[in-house]
Amino acid sequence: MTAVLPPTDQRALDLLKSVWGYGAFRGVQADIVRTVAQGGNALVLMPTGGGKSLCYQVPALLRDGVGVVVSPLIALMKDQVDALRQVGVRAAFLNSTLPPEGVREVEAALMSGDLDLLYVAPERLLLGRTLDLLSQAPVALFAIDEAHCVSQWGHDFRPEYGQLHVLPQRFPQIPRLALTATADERTRADILRVLDLGDAPQFISSFDRPNIQYRVAAKEGPKSQLLDFIRTEHPGDAGIVYCLSRKSVEETARWLQAQGVDAVAYHAGLSPRERNAAQERFLNEEGLIVVATVAFGMGIDKPNVRFVAHLDLPKSLEGYYQETGRAGRDGLGSTAWMVYGLADVVNVKRMLSQSLAPEDVKRVEAAKLDALLTYCEAATCRRQVLLSYFGETLPEPCGNCDVCLTPPRVRDATREAQMALSAVVRTGNRFGAAHLTDVLLGRDTEKVRAMGHHTLPTFGVGRDHDEKTWRGLLRQLVSLGYLAAGEHHGLTATAKARAILKGEETLTLREDTLAPRAARAGRDR
Ligand code: ADP
Ligand code: ZN
Repeated sequence: MTAVLPPTDQRALDLLKSVWGYGAFRGVQADIVRTVAQGGNALVLMPTGGGKSLCYQVPALLRDGVGVVVSPLIALMKDQVDALRQVGVRAAFLNSTLPPEGVREVEAALMSGDLDLLYVAPERLLLGRTLDLLSQAPVALFAIDEAHCVSQWGHDFRPEYGQLHVLPQRFPQIPRLALTATADERTRADILRVLDLGDAPQFISSFDRPNIQYRVAAKEGPKSQLLDFIRTEHPGDAGIVYCLSRKSVEETARWLQAQGVDAVAYHAGLSPRERNAAQERFLNEEGLIVVATVAFGMGIDKPNVRFVAHLDLPKSLEGYYQETGRAGRDGLGSTAWMVYGLADVVNVKRMLSQSLAPEDVKRVEAAKLDALLTYCEAATCRRQVLLSYFGETLPEPCGNCDVCLTPPRVRDATREAQMALSAVVRTGNRFGAAHLTDVLLGRDTEKVRAMGHHTLPTFGVGRDHDEKTWRGLLRQLVSLGYLAAGEHHGLTATAKARAILKGEETLTLREDTLAPRAARAGRDR
């Protein structure tokens, strides 16, 4: 007995088998294909590697006319088109890399109905000429890939994407399918508005990547922590190490090489030839590590990346999710590993407060950074924190993150927080963590003398804890917004700090940053 499928579903499945050789649709793919094949609009939120392409490729073949795919990833279009042609799909692309005669050829094929799929860069689509051609050609659907680029709040805003409302205006009858792997509430709302998808069904897949183990640790000696991690857990594995600056990329890559680790540097300051070479090596060799800025990775599809390491903080939790998501696309166990410290938190906060961006943009960026820092400081399952940011609820702790595997103990840190905050306030809200720590520990330094801080009531009140503890506590106070980072690394108590100082609010923190001096005496002396 075989179940009888509705005719569209049967045809879709037949295509999937005959063209791509796959036996079944994954997850919500079948529902999306049915919706669009029948002429409906849709919004698709699916993590990277989830299988978004088939969601528009199959309906494009099922419907009459050409499926027009808008994509900002010009560098990938040729590969995508080549792959489609190999399985017999009539595909082409239009972007700035094409010579004039190439453009004419594609346009002719479009007008004579000889194309199944046409990939177009947004700036090319928006040309009056292209829009006119499309209004005369039979169009099966518009797929807007990387749809989060419409949003100013996203990390990838493209002005041309903001103009894509011409699609619903000029082609209201043609189905629109918006696809993205990143969309918080705000970005999602922007996509719906710009593409006029208010009534369209939304297909939201889980963002969970169960095979990725999430780990975050305090930065002590980042390079040797990294080397230790690679040697003990991922010897000979392919991985990506993200650093913030070109300089630290170069340094880290060179250092790894000197330690006998196969590593190559990648950043936007290299020539296109050098960047291509690094990329090719990474794709083709076993066990190469790329040390890179965030310039590396968009569109890189290497299934067996076994780890992604962050030596510096990403800008947002979305960025972190995207970058760590490049690990383990083959579904096998992989690690997302990160170290960060007080200086990182102070730095990113200061960069943000000094940025020249408009106030509302700065506010959004600050909120995004805070979400990341909350994740970093989490004393509960990291996967639960991460997924809840994407609007998803994981009912049970995951069992595959550092917090689940080695639960940190938490304790009431109100008293210590009051000490640290009052040291900040009494020294005038302008000193950095190093000096504040000296004051708390009662160290008689030249600077302490010169400022007269040895006479303050806070001088030496923190002797029960060690330096590392105070730095960890200050880091958490900055991360959680009780302290703000100002000029020259100076820390300032915020309005939020008042409730703690007054004893109206208590604070619970991870105990690993609050170890009593005695317990560590051996190491810290
Ligand atoms: P995304 O665009 O969401 O990152 P892709 O569309 O590139 O993901 O798909 C990721 C991988 O999964 C590709 O190698 C693709 O061939 C494969 N894939 C997608 N859907 C299926 C399916 N139904 N059956 C088998 N493989 C699939
Ligand atoms: Zn967990």
